Amino acid sequence: MTGLSRRSLLTHTAGLGVAALMGAQARANAPISGHQAPGFYRFKLGDYEVTILNDGARTFPLPDTWVTNVAKDQALGAAGEAFMPAGKVTVPFNPTLINTGSKLVLIDAGNGPSPDGAVGLLFPNLAAAGIKPEDIDVLVLSHLHPDHINGIRTADGGIAFPNAEIIAPEPEWAFWMSDDNMAKATTPIDKNYFVNTRKILGGLNDRVGRYSWDKEVAPGITAIATPGHTPGHTSFAIASGNSRMLVQSDVTNIPELFLRNPDWHVAYDHDPDMAQQTRHRFYDMAATEKMLVAGYHFSFPSAGHVEKAGAGYRLVPVAWSAAL
Ligand SMILES: [Zn+2]
Repeated sequence: MTGLSRRSLLTHTAGLGVAALMGAQARANAPISGHQAPGFYRFKLGDYEVTILNDGARTFPLPDTWVTNVAKDQALGAAGEAFMPAGKVTVPFNPTLINTGSKLVLIDAGNGPSPDGAVGLLFPNLAAAGIKPEDIDVLVLSHLHPDHINGIRTADGGIAFPNAEIIAPEPEWAFWMSDDNMAKATTPIDKNYFVNTRKILGGLNDRVGRYSWDKEVAPGITAIATPGHTPGHTSFAIASGNSRMLVQSDVTNIPELFLRNPDWHVAYDHDPDMAQQTRHRFYDMAATEKMLVAGYHFSFPSAGHVEKAGAGYRLVPVAWSAAL
C-alpha cells in the first residue's frame, strides 16, 4: 500500500521534475493555451432556457472593514476555509439570461468595459453563447450598483443593448437619482455610488422604465422585494410550467462569507440590519422550497441549492450537465 504522506508526494514530484528535464526537447502537439474557456452555463427551466454568463471576477486583499461587524481575522478565516488566496477574497460577477421563447431577458449588465480585462467578460461570453447584445429584448436591473449597471454603456458612451427595454426597480431609481439623497450621503462608498449612477444613467430618465415589486417584469419573471443591500434591491422568481428558480441578485455578496454567516454585514450594504433580515427570510424560503438559486456573486456557474447549516446556510453548487 502506498502512503500518501507529504514526503512521498514531494519525492514523486521531484521524480517528475527530472523526467520533464530529460525530455526538454519534447513538445506537446498543442501550445499552452494561456486563456480560460468561455464562461456560460445553460440549463432548462420548464420551457425556458437559462444561460448564466460570467462577467469575470476580482481578487483583492481583504479591506480592514469589508465585513463591518466582525474582526478582520474572523473574515479572513472564512475566506481561508474556502481556500481563497491568502489574505484575499475573490468576488465573481455573473448575470443571468432567460430565453422565455418569446423574450430574451438579461438580468443585470455586468461591470462594462475594463482596462485590466478582469471583468467586462459578459460581452465575449454572450458572443460565445451565440447571442448579440442587440438581440436582448429586456434588460432588468436588480439594483443600481456599478457592477450591475456599468455594462449598459459601451466604451464610447453608447448604449450596449440598443434594442432592449431597460427597466429598474421604482424605489431604487427614486433613491439613487434623488439629488437630495446624494447631498445626504455619509459613507464614501455611497457617495461613489451616487456619482456612478449619474455617470451611467444620467440623461436616461426617459430611456429607463421602472418596475414594481410583486409584478412580472417579463413573462414568468416576477420581481421580489429584497431590500437592505440597497433601498430598492430586487430578486426574481422565474417560473415556467411546474419549474421555478430564484435569482437572488445581491441578497448576499460571496456565499463563502455571507451565506455561511448571514449575520455578517458587507461594507456595500446600505441598511445592514435590513439586509440581514432579508437574507434570513430569503434563504429560509429557498431552503424550505428546495429552489435553485442563482447568485450574482456565487462562483461560476453561480447557481445551487441552499440548506440550513448551524446558524447559517450552506450552498450546494449545481453539477455541470452536458445535457440540457
Ligand atoms: Zn453586486
